[in-house]
Amino acid sequence: MFSRTLGLFFWMAVAALGGYWLHPSSGLLLGAFLVCFLTVLKDLWKGQKLTHWLRHNNVQEPPDMGGIWGDLIDRMKRLLNEQRKLTKSEQQRLQDFLLAIQASPNGVVLLDPEGRIEWCNQTAALHLGMDAKRDLMQHVVHLVRDPVFKKYLTSEAYEGEVIIDGRSASLQKAVKLSVQLHSYGENRNLLLTRDVTAVAHADAMRRDFVANVSHEIRTPLTVMSGFIETLQSLPLDAAEREKYLELMSVQALRMQDLVNDLLILSQLEGSNLPSSSDPVALDSLMSGIESEARGLSEAQMHAGDEPQVLHFEVPEGIQILGVAKELHSAISNLVNNAVRYTPAGGLITALWTLLPDQRIQFTVVDTGPGIASEHLPRLTERFYRVDRSRSRESGGTGLGLAIAKHVMQRHGGELKIESELGKGSRFTLIFPASRVVTLASEN
Ligand code: ADP
Repeated sequence: MFSRTLGLFFWMAVAALGGYWLHPSSGLLLGAFLVCFLTVLKDLWKGQKLTHWLRHNNVQEPPDMGGIWGDLIDRMKRLLNEQRKLTKSEQQRLQDFLLAIQASPNGVVLLDPEGRIEWCNQTAALHLGMDAKRDLMQHVVHLVRDPVFKKYLTSEAYEGEVIIDGRSASLQKAVKLSVQLHSYGENRNLLLTRDVTAVAHADAMRRDFVANVSHEIRTPLTVMSGFIETLQSLPLDAAEREKYLELMSVQALRMQDLVNDLLILSQLEGSNLPSSSDPVALDSLMSGIESEARGLSEAQMHAGDEPQVLHFEVPEGIQILGVAKELHSAISNLVNNAVRYTPAGGLITALWTLLPDQRIQFTVVDTGPGIASEHLPRLTERFYRVDRSRSRESGGTGLGLAIAKHVMQRHGGELKIESELGKGSRFTLIFPASRVVTLASEN
């Protein structure tokens, strides 16, 4: 700056002397003025070039200028570069932040002070049936029309969450959403959505289960307390007392069976998957189940009844890798059901077949009453019975098939039910080849 001022004075002095030499009366002033004028003109021209460069978004190379203008341009260039880097890194951070919110399994919607959608992630769009781009700046109540949500939004006391029905057309099943608003910034709101369908379903199932168990226990308890009252209040002879005690013992056994089945179910749910290294020999497993079934068949016979025919076929030298107690439970439930539901004189066949792909199949076929097709898909639900009183009469808990299905799932197998009303039933368990050991073929 100093050298530039010095230079200007120097050239003014030279021009003034030149002017004086040419025209002594006014040349001095004119010479100095001419230098000033040319200097201003030159600065104006350089300023114009700089403005042009800046105006054109500085995409072109900056004008090449020396001196103070060159300095100015260098400083501007440095400043602009720093600014550009800062903007780029801020943009990258914003992009990363938005990508992280996009990846969230929960829905996120940013609402402006008027309740319009400023931004939302794909999950929120899916949950609320919106289009993440098209619906920007739409008022949220125009898109989420659930009255519970409207009331929640207008209450402005966003404590806790509300549960609403999901609206998306692309979701096949009905969904339940938890929706929560949080205020932030200046009157802005963050709307969070979470799919709670599974939680709501599990909750409903738990409530149903507790209601069912209470109902199942209350029935024998009511009968027993009636008998106790009778024993306490009526003068009964020994034979009558004996009869009542026997009836009470039947009810107590019913409760015991129910509690046992509930315990089996809870153990199935709470324990680790069965190991693939514990062999269970089919013949010894089946001999216990067969004698139990024959005992049950005899016990349920009435005087004059034709006996049921029980036919068992068990191959030798085959083991299943799994938990003996669970396998016993699944198989005996199917065999005992066949015995319980088949009338006197009926035929029950239980046989094992090794399939060509090394899987093994257990089938129980009976000549009982059969099951109408509309009941088949629900038979493995807990406490589902086709004929409630028939099941209770024969000592059923309504949990046998649920247990069998669970055991098969844990062993990587499946339970198949085929039946036709009036034509008997066929229950099949199929175990995967990985759980079958054929000792005969190893020798
Ligand atoms: P339950 O203890 O009542 O027998 P299960 O879960 O074992 O409960 O069976 C569910 C229902 O399936 C039974 O209540 C019965 O209606 C029907 N069912 C099961 N096995 C047979 C069968 N072999 N023949 C006819 N109906 C059957």
